[in-house]
Amino acid sequence: MAKMFIAGELAGALSGQTYDVINPATGETVGSAPKGNESDARAAIDAADAAFAAWADTSAESRAQLILKGIDAVKKELPELSVLLTREQGKPVGDSQREIEHFLHGMNFYAGLASKIRGSYVPLPDNKMYGMVLKQPVGVCGAIVPWNFPITLMGTKVGPALAAGCTVVVKPASSTPLTTLRIVELLNSAGLPKGVLNVVTGPGGVVGEELLQNPKVRRIAFTGESKTGQHVVSVAGSQMKRLTLELGGSDPMIFCEDGDMDKALTAASVGRFYNCGQACLAVKRLYIVESVYDQFVEKLLGKVAKLTVGNGLEKTTRLGPLHTKAQREEIEAQIEDAVTRGARVLTGGKRPEGAQFEKGFFYSPTVLADVPEDARVVKEETFGPVLPVFKVKDLDEGIARANNSMYGLGSSVWTKDLGKARRAAEKIEAGNVWINSLHIGYDEMPFGGVKYSGFGREHGPEALEYYLETKGVVIATPE
Ligand code: NDP
Repeated sequence: MAKMFIAGELAGALSGQTYDVINPATGETVGSAPKGNESDARAAIDAADAAFAAWADTSAESRAQLILKGIDAVKKELPELSVLLTREQGKPVGDSQREIEHFLHGMNFYAGLASKIRGSYVPLPDNKMYGMVLKQPVGVCGAIVPWNFPITLMGTKVGPALAAGCTVVVKPASSTPLTTLRIVELLNSAGLPKGVLNVVTGPGGVVGEELLQNPKVRRIAFTGESKTGQHVVSVAGSQMKRLTLELGGSDPMIFCEDGDMDKALTAASVGRFYNCGQACLAVKRLYIVESVYDQFVEKLLGKVAKLTVGNGLEKTTRLGPLHTKAQREEIEAQIEDAVTRGARVLTGGKRPEGAQFEKGFFYSPTVLADVPEDARVVKEETFGPVLPVFKVKDLDEGIARANNSMYGLGSSVWTKDLGKARRAAEKIEAGNVWINSLHIGYDEMPFGGVKYSGFGREHGPEALEYYLETKGVVIATPE
């Protein structure tokens, strides 16, 4: 059984309970994890609280060195960790490896920033006085992580937290705890002082809830569904905890008549079907200008036909299974809703057939046309391999329809016209706009949403700010 990591030690749940982790491709048990509860979460929070003062006082350079050593420890197990991630999450093993490498790149990025955190000196009107602005770590942070990118989305929280001098309790999604448990253990093996980085597994409504409610936790970094995010705001927000919320999205992609069609086709296909469509920044609505609509759709269907569905451990697989049975049922319900309202299935729209698919939660990549605006695939987040395509008159109609959404996470526009690109970048209501580019997160760039996609930013130097308090100090110099 995998173990949690609390106060510098591997730990089972205090209750002794465990639960099985299921492989979404085969239905088999991958391993088991401790079923932690409030008491385990409290033990981890207490450990993080006890460790905080010394960690905040540790020099930035030493903090960075320990993060870098941790990176080395994880690198040594990269192949095994990649296979484990595929077995518990479902994605192709190459994508698992890229996810862990992305995590390491992000950790390295924040290790580099640790020693660049600085405040300022402020001259005041009375020249016998001056001000200083100090940047100090916030305190104990709760990092609540979903199952779709369990490792990178842990890193976007743990990296800036440790660099800033905060201590952390990680709460992974219940269905993807195993790779996280091993990685936290490896990061600790590099010499982090006990209590600086802890991980507790168990139900979100119990372990996560304790992180939201416990007054010793001063900051919550949450990635997950918008509905859960609303709950996080109501509970943790009422305690004035610092919050960042990375929530759902329904990213639009707009293709104009002068866009590079071949590159856009790849971006639409990868952007929608990567991780079996289970990405917050996936292309979830595709708007194509009418003069090139037929040509684009025909070529898109050709690309989609080449996507191989299968177990993520097989080299040929491009699309693994959906992560859970419930996730597949949700996708099927959304497609049925669209079809009932008049949508046409251009490809897919069903489970793949064959013995190898019987035990997993597979679904064929699907493209829908003629989808009305009131269909669930337009109004809600579609977290699976389903791409609705829409014909629009021009860029302006594309922008208007792109903005007709409760979400505002990512978006993209394809055009060679700089004026159009700039107009789109300014007018689209989203935290991120990609021009002539795949929707992809960079460690160097701030990432986050507006509207129901949340608030606050992860990635980039901007993320560090959410782990730092700004303190104003006014000093009167002696006569
Ligand atoms: P959930 O909101 O269901 O869960 C996210 C995390 O919250 C899990 O660790 C879960 O634990 C925990 N949790 C559940 N209930 C509570 C609670 N009451 N208090 C505290 N924590 C709780 O999301 P999913 O795991 O289904 O993730 C998919 C969602 O994440 C999608 O909507 C996706 O768009 C979004 N996402 C957003 C990103 C962004 O950057 N904007 C990036 C990636 C994903 P448990 O698993 O035990 O229930």
